[in-house]
Amino acid sequence: MRAVVFEQYGEPAEVREVADPRPAEHGVVVRVEATGLCRSDWHGWQGHDPDIALPHVPGHELAGVVEEAGARVTGWRPGDRVTVPFVCACGTCPACAAGDQQVCERQTQPGFTHWGSFAQYVALDHADVNLVAVPEEMSYATAASLGCRFATAYRAVVQQGRVAAGEWVAVHGCGGVGLSAVMIAAASGARVVAVDVSPQALDLARTFGATRCVDASRAEDTAAAVRDLTGGGAHLSLDALGSPATCAASIDGLRRRGRHVQVGLLPSPAGTTPVPMARAIALELELLGSHGMAAHTYPPMLELVRAGVLRPDLLVTSTITLDAVPSALAAMGTAPGAGVTVAEPWS
Ligand SMILES: [Zn+2]
Ligand SMILES: [Zn+2]
Repeated sequence: MRAVVFEQYGEPAEVREVADPRPAEHGVVVRVEATGLCRSDWHGWQGHDPDIALPHVPGHELAGVVEEAGARVTGWRPGDRVTVPFVCACGTCPACAAGDQQVCERQTQPGFTHWGSFAQYVALDHADVNLVAVPEEMSYATAASLGCRFATAYRAVVQQGRVAAGEWVAVHGCGGVGLSAVMIAAASGARVVAVDVSPQALDLARTFGATRCVDASRAEDTAAAVRDLTGGGAHLSLDALGSPATCAASIDGLRRRGRHVQVGLLPSPAGTTPVPMARAIALELELLGSHGMAAHTYPPMLELVRAGVLRPDLLVTSTITLDAVPSALAAMGTAPGAGVTVAEPWS
């Protein structure tokens, strides 16, 4: 099969022929019809993820068709239209037994713990735990955008953030996950403040339901701007970018007893990120993480997509071929970009 491969961190990736994957007994091989390009792929390529072994094939936001199923898979067969959360769970550890597959103790992540979906085929483990059926009317490109950013944003806003109608929600960083969060929060009846350095990203955020915008390239203190616009601070705030500055601004922009959800990854040479804990204590803030979303919690989200309340299709702003992935991956470092880029390995 053809796949995007890199041999060294930060060195250009290339498209080349590699061996086709085989399914594990409990796994499947999926023919990849669409796969999203994500900032996590760029972090992985840069060597920020200790799970990656070289040479490596990135890619974790995928949708496609089951090509082959292992002998112990009972729920899926060749021809099924499927997607997966980027966290694939084992199905048997205590976290999985509690229904929290998104933090499985023995999780695998395509494109990180093993070869991913910037390829014509990808192997996925524990298919009966992890696969999600893609409805006939949903395109593969849309489905590919669900597995990482959209589902992560949905869990951050709805499941972890417990958004309520009428609340103020601040979203720091309006790339793929941030714009998804804006759309989901607005659809939940919240009033949304979008924060980004890019006027184009803020324009998109307005399109997706943000009622207030803070241009972080001009605002001296984005947290103060959010507090001003929301009459004292957001009820719920997300750092959807993942930087020490946006993390702190998200926390500093909350009102009393507000909830911060960290969604953007925070790789750091020091291994830790300073956060304003004094404010968390004094204002009784909640600081939460959000890590993907379990496959079994997809149905309410898919129902909102089916009903047209949520429109992940609008987030897909460009479609490229597999050959264009290496340069698009490299470009992510300097310009993460607004919206979602999807590669189609068979085009
Ligand atoms: Zn992703
Ligand atoms: Zn598990």
